[in-house]
Amino acid sequence: MKVRVLGLLLAVLFFSAATARGQAPVDGDFVAANARDHAAYLASEIGERPAGTLGEQLAAGWLAGQFADLGYTVRVQPFTFNRLGQPLVGMNVIATKPGLPGYGAVYVGAHYDTVGIAPGFLGGPGAIDNASGVGVMLEGARVAAGSIYTPTLHFIAFGAEEDYLVGSGRFVAQLSGRERVAAVGMLNLDCVGWGDEFRLIVAREADRAFAERLGVDADWLGSERWGASDHLSFTAVGIPAAFFNILRDDLTCGPGYHQSSDTADLLELPAMQRAGDALLTALDSLAVQAAPIHDIFLPLALSPPAAP
Ligand SMILES: [Zn+2]
Repeated sequence: MKVRVLGLLLAVLFFSAATARGQAPVDGDFVAANARDHAAYLASEIGERPAGTLGEQLAAGWLAGQFADLGYTVRVQPFTFNRLGQPLVGMNVIATKPGLPGYGAVYVGAHYDTVGIAPGFLGGPGAIDNASGVGVMLEGARVAAGSIYTPTLHFIAFGAEEDYLVGSGRFVAQLSGRERVAAVGMLNLDCVGWGDEFRLIVAREADRAFAERLGVDADWLGSERWGASDHLSFTAVGIPAAFFNILRDDLTCGPGYHQSSDTADLLELPAMQRAGDALLTALDSLAVQAAPIHDIFLPLALSPPAAP
């Protein structure tokens, strides 16, 4: 009896300590309603968030807090850029879960900005484009926090995607040569909250094998259809990348694309569930396949490419 009471006391102390550190409960399943709630908060409570605006800053602060609550190490990467000749500051929010030494890194990305304020753009709260991707990434990060992965995981909320992929471009620009070589791959979530056709888009035929290795059950996989998003910044520096996207009847990003009607009521749970399950399947596949990267090969891999 004494032993059981002691055990109960220890359990209470343990869980009290865990709660005091703000750790989220461990749950192995992706819950689409959580992803939808995150997306709805971004779209409805924060609203429009073009890079360089107060909306973006509010969203970045909220995202950093969400990742920190999940136990991730968080850093914010600010960057400067121009929109219509006006200098502005945008930011990426980067959450990291360390893996085993030498096993490289997997990058998961979703842009949290909405379309920039410029002629021809109506703006809008960006529920599908791309609060949906950010919501799926946050819920995926919650599940991943309770698992062990051999590669290091980086979850990145990119700013200024709508300004010609500036945020992801600045992110890859600050990767060292060693980090580029050690990159296992990048998974990009953009417009995954509406529709019923799940696409895995690659920018180059060379990335097709990488996308197939993810073990994700996609309705379509290839490089022939539209797909301008943050994964392009990674393929541009030679990092394999795949773009997760969901559409319906060839309409991508929902009926309110880049307009004030891209609101949270459009978010569809089955689409977000499918994207989240695919993300976790892909992370598991990459973790199983990741091989240690030996420093002895790095001088060869880092030798400068031949001039074009
Ligand atoms: Zn987008």
